[in-house]
Amino acid sequence: LSDKLQGALSKLKSKGKLTEKDIKDAMREVKLALLEADVNFKVVKDFIKKVQERCVGQEVMESLTPAQHIIKIVNEELTSLMGDVSSKVVISPKPPTIIMMVGLQGAGKTTTSGKLGGYFKKQGKRPLLVACDVYRPAAIKQLQVVGEKLDIPVFNMGDKESPINIAKAGLSHALKNNNDLVIIDTAGRLHVDEALMDELKSIKSEVKPHEILLVVDSMTGQDAVNVAESFNETLGVDGVVLTKLDGDTRGGAALSIRAVTQKPIKFIGMGEKLDDLEQFHPDRMASRILGMGDILSLIEKAQENMDMDKARELEQKIKKQELDFEDFLEQMEQIQNMGPLDKILGMMPGMGNIKDQLGDVDLNGKEMKRTKAIVQSMTVEERRNPTILNASRKKRIARGSGSSVQDVNRLIKQFNEMKKMMKMFTGSQKSMKKRGGFA
Ligand code: GDP
Ligand code: MG
Repeated sequence: LSDKLQGALSKLKSKGKLTEKDIKDAMREVKLALLEADVNFKVVKDFIKKVQERCVGQEVMESLTPAQHIIKIVNEELTSLMGDVSSKVVISPKPPTIIMMVGLQGAGKTTTSGKLGGYFKKQGKRPLLVACDVYRPAAIKQLQVVGEKLDIPVFNMGDKESPINIAKAGLSHALKNNNDLVIIDTAGRLHVDEALMDELKSIKSEVKPHEILLVVDSMTGQDAVNVAESFNETLGVDGVVLTKLDGDTRGGAALSIRAVTQKPIKFIGMGEKLDDLEQFHPDRMASRILGMGDILSLIEKAQENMDMDKARELEQKIKKQELDFEDFLEQMEQIQNMGPLDKILGMMPGMGNIKDQLGDVDLNGKEMKRTKAIVQSMTVEERRNPTILNASRKKRIARGSGSSVQDVNRLIKQFNEMKKMMKMFTGSQKSMKKRGGFA
């Protein structure tokens, strides 16, 4: 999906002013990409309508960078499609908080029960897992193994007792043992059927869970959405856990579920291991889908590697357009510490272009040494005030650093690109904060 969407939108980038037809053509491609990704038809229709209405607005048509504007709109609408803000699990003021896991067989209920237990244990909770799947052979054993790995207690009464009684007994067990979180792992079926729903309804009315989390397999695409719809209609669910997103290349379920069911995705499963569970962030997901990278991961990485005081100082300089060659050199060194430049630029929204422009900069190795030599051949005055670099100064610098005037010119060009890039970077960081991207 990412490739297709990027393709549709990048065509716009090569144009200056956009006509309504340009936008219509792009929207047709976006629509196809979404349908191919198995996004619900009605969701796609509404989505395109909204985006198109916003795109032909004056603001976009008259903007100097209409393509950027449109990408921003698509990104915002994708985010809102998935629910705008991330929804958390409700924690009951009066413990224990009861979470009931439901879903079809194989969706990932048992695994996710364990993952959730681990997730909340890390936050200081004392979870209890309750084994209510008495039908699938070895289902109880499976939960016990999971519990053992995480060092979380598992309550079970074998497979002869009714799931309703087990759930009730599990609850009293939790009260007695001071467990403030009870996660009930229920049985699934291959298809939604009445017997399954009746059993789940009985458990629901007996234990009155604070959260019913529906677990669906993202790889099943629209089927996942249909399953979510029928569980929500018959049983009522509070949130969705979308599993196996690590293997889902299309993203159709992620994009449709919220719009179809009005229920938020709360967690995503990203692998079979018990810590492969993440809280769901609609804005991060939208950026991932648009291939715009994950700015938050970048910031986290930058914070790990950068000297924050220096970074703040630098930000001020960038804002005041005072970045000079000394900062440039320092930046190059810091960026080098963060890892391969490609990867870093890939994480920045809208950096694809600049990455191409910077294509011939090799921040690792030989090129870096040459760059250093050039900067070091500049006088302090020249480093601080690059605008004074005229032809004769450039010649002197080239000679001093054992390079050509061309090399010097290229470096100045790269420096100016970098200045622009850094400015954009500080800009996007701010807008993310404004949108509440940090949770
Ligand atoms: P249940 O029948 O709903 O309880 O499903 P299980 O928890 O037994 O999971 C079914 C299969 O899906 C198991 O092999 C799990 O390892 C696998 N699984 C669950 N969640 C994920 C996930 O997020 N990613 C991947 N790759 N596999 C998962
Ligand atoms: Mg199970």
